[in-house]
Amino acid sequence: MSNAEDKISQLQQQLNQYNHEYYLLDQPSVPDAEYDRLMNALIALETENPELKTIDSPSQKVGGQALKSFTQVTHQQPMLSLDNVFSLDDFHAFVKRVKDRLNSDQSLAFCAEPKLDGLAVSLRYEQGILVQAATRGDGRVGENITTNIRTIKSIPLKLRGIAGKDFPSIVEVRGEVFMPKASFNALNELANKRGDKGFANPRNAAAGSLRQLDSKITAKRNLAFYAYSLGFVGDFTAANGESKDLTHEFFADSHHQRLCQLKTLGLPMCPEVRLLANEQAADGFYQDILAKRSALSYEIDGTVFKVDDISLQQRLGFVARAPRWAIAYKFPAEEELTCVEDVEFQV
Ligand code: NAD
Repeated sequence: MSNAEDKISQLQQQLNQYNHEYYLLDQPSVPDAEYDRLMNALIALETENPELKTIDSPSQKVGGQALKSFTQVTHQQPMLSLDNVFSLDDFHAFVKRVKDRLNSDQSLAFCAEPKLDGLAVSLRYEQGILVQAATRGDGRVGENITTNIRTIKSIPLKLRGIAGKDFPSIVEVRGEVFMPKASFNALNELANKRGDKGFANPRNAAAGSLRQLDSKITAKRNLAFYAYSLGFVGDFTAANGESKDLTHEFFADSHHQRLCQLKTLGLPMCPEVRLLANEQAADGFYQDILAKRSALSYEIDGTVFKVDDISLQQRLGFVARAPRWAIAYKFPAEEELTCVEDVEFQV
């Protein structure tokens, strides 16, 4: 085995183990920053040695496999992850890649959103009624968590304002289920009093609470939800059993406007979401949200920028695990910030 091959194999094994602990057990053993460092090292080695990149590499996969204790749901449209950057230079490199691919040097409008630290779910409404909810799982197959989702007060069981309207029979909504900071702190205090092990962070607490076999436990956990995109929208066509895509008939060609439409239907939208006229506004949004971070009632770990124009999103498409039209611009890890502050304090 060559040196690079050896390193790649070691990193893959280590990351697979961390994925298992994080996505299946909801008990990570290393901070996210450490995981991200190892993942970036793997991506760099695979980019230098493309012949060593395999389709089962953790760099090519979304999340973890669905737990067998739940029935499985095959997503009608895959649920992907997001590529991420940690600096403004890397954000601009992302914008350049997008423009190169579009063969355009025009500025781009972005929908800018906080990166909520919870877990992705897909909600399926049929004739306006919530009939199914699923976790992302490996992006293709997730866990059926409908009963637990029904306990979350901010998720409507019925869409608003569609009575009597010619509305698509199927509307899938994607968004993040998260545990507000106050609920997380109360849950860990209780665990502490009882001598139980608490959750490492609100993300793991949300995932652990949602994947409970007893929905009464989920109901006590005060979870919340914000919608951030559409999944499949359409009608059943009886003839061949397939469904007809009606997204463009009912939803706007702007990502931001689609979120506003979802809000009108009763789905909560994060109040910090903004439409940016061009990429120059991205850093201001990032800095604003970073400054607000500790005052927000929920945990976030960065910002997300999505090309707002849906027709451009479609031209850009996807790679194995993420869309090409969106990027997570993540905050520096808090544990690293603590170290920096400690050093400054000692000086
Ligand atoms: P991710 O969390 O980096 O990004 C994708 C996810 O972001 C989406 O699936 C969605 O759930 C979420 N999201 C939040 N706000 C969003 C918004 N406004 N729009 C769209 N999506 C939004 O990707 P991931 O694949 O879920 O997880 C990878 C990350 O998880 C790693 O970078 C690492 O930080 C962490 N992780 C840590 C460990 C560990 O052992 N500590 C293990 C695995 C993963």
